[in-house]
Amino acid sequence: MSGKVVLVGAGPGEAGLLTVKATEFIRQADVIVYDRLVNPALLKERKPDCELMYVGKEPSHHPIPQAEIEQILVNEARQNKLVIRLKSGDPYVFGRGGEEGETLHAAGIPFEVVPGVTSAIGGLAYAGIPVTHRDCASSFHVITGHLKDGSDPLDWTSLARLDGTLIFLMGITQLPSICANLIQHGRRPDTAAAVVEWASRSRQRTVTGDLTTICAKVADANIGAPGLIVVGDVVKLRDKLNFFEKAPLFRKHILLPRARAGRSELAAQITALGGEVTLYPGIRIEKLIDPALPNAVAAYLPECEEILFTSAEAVPLFIEAMLESGKDIRALSGIRLTAIGKQTKEKLCEYGFAADILVSRRSADLIRQACAGNWRPGTKVLLAGSEKHTAQLAAELGGAAEFAALPLYREVLETERPFDLRKFDAVCFSSSASVEHLLSVLSAEEQDLLRSMKLVSIGPMTSRTIREQGLEVYREAEAAQPDALITLLLEESGEVMPT
Ligand code: SAH
Repeated sequence: MSGKVVLVGAGPGEAGLLTVKATEFIRQADVIVYDRLVNPALLKERKPDCELMYVGKEPSHHPIPQAEIEQILVNEARQNKLVIRLKSGDPYVFGRGGEEGETLHAAGIPFEVVPGVTSAIGGLAYAGIPVTHRDCASSFHVITGHLKDGSDPLDWTSLARLDGTLIFLMGITQLPSICANLIQHGRRPDTAAAVVEWASRSRQRTVTGDLTTICAKVADANIGAPGLIVVGDVVKLRDKLNFFEKAPLFRKHILLPRARAGRSELAAQITALGGEVTLYPGIRIEKLIDPALPNAVAAYLPECEEILFTSAEAVPLFIEAMLESGKDIRALSGIRLTAIGKQTKEKLCEYGFAADILVSRRSADLIRQACAGNWRPGTKVLLAGSEKHTAQLAAELGGAAEFAALPLYREVLETERPFDLRKFDAVCFSSSASVEHLLSVLSAEEQDLLRSMKLVSIGPMTSRTIREQGLEVYREAEAAQPDALITLLLEESGEVMPT
């Protein structure tokens, strides 16, 4: 039996530019075969057992021949797998997607295509350059700049005559020859031109000029691949349309060590301000398989007065265990529900439950403050959450009530290698756990490297943990809140908090 291959466009780089359908396929994939320009952040949504195959063409490595890549797709699909071929931009724009589709067709493998935002259009938009404009460009032309070994397949006379926008992909090393050819074949030397490196990523850089000046400017700025070359008057609109490079945290690449699994509010805020975030190490939820669990749940529920959910992840796993035990939501009637963290409260809401009590953080003191009024010795409180947190809380909360830990999952740290600390402008620690998690996965050399980096802390407790590890805190947020950390990052980049 044969699986399926999906040729998926990953967009120009920014994670948010992935389509909904592409995200869905990445979540379902058994295998993801991906290229060099695909932003690794996009792979985070994959299943824990999804296999990753990197087939990128690195300048320094021997490239995997195209025929071999196509064979990988065929072989994997023949093992009844869902194979995602993730390609930068749109799979059919210079991505050799057409060839891969032909091979799959010939091999009788079912395949689909999920178009992506091509860098030729979306990447330029992020540099403030629209590919058409009523006043100055009524067409655009996407051209390969990759001229094979001296031979030049391009009809420069026709290209120079076009008055639409010319966009060259794979052309950075050929830039001098492209400019010279266009001028030589009649394009005005003062035609505006721009080069955009790493478009839509936080490290994007743009250089503008005209056909006579752009080469020297690109060389001066040391701009390299991957880059888009654009020729035409639309470049002049950049002054007005350049939204991305004006974002307050643009060009800031922040390392955000994870404290827990799930969505990171802080990461979302930094990204929204134009920064790039790497969450590291990743945290995977591993459901605990315990045959005794359904019986335990069935036994606890009739006498339990309160369920305290220590995380959002605990909510669906608890409901699953309850259903397996032969009970349903009616069994929760009259039981007080306590959520630790806003996301846990929201998750409960998704399942139709309104939390009675919300505790902002998983701190024994805060939990006591919020809940102790309801507790007497003997009050039965079920702690539903991770193996570690339920055990920890049961011990810390002591005899204030009768606590029973219901471990539902364990958190597994995920490290992807190679990992290069040098590329980050700052490391933002959002809790003591985030410090511990990062240090537990770094090599001694990497830990040494941390000493020379800007370590930003969310508050006094986190700072203490940083210092206990022999590291220095560069700055500490004024209030121990994510917003205060954002204010601090904005101050660091010379910005004030947007109102
Ligand atoms: N299918 C891709 C293009 C693949 S060819 C698409 O639709 O975008 C690879 C070339 O695309 C690179 O050499 C570069 O010219 C361009 N490119 C892709 N992503 C880019 C990015 N983020 N910034 C600048 N150029 C990019």
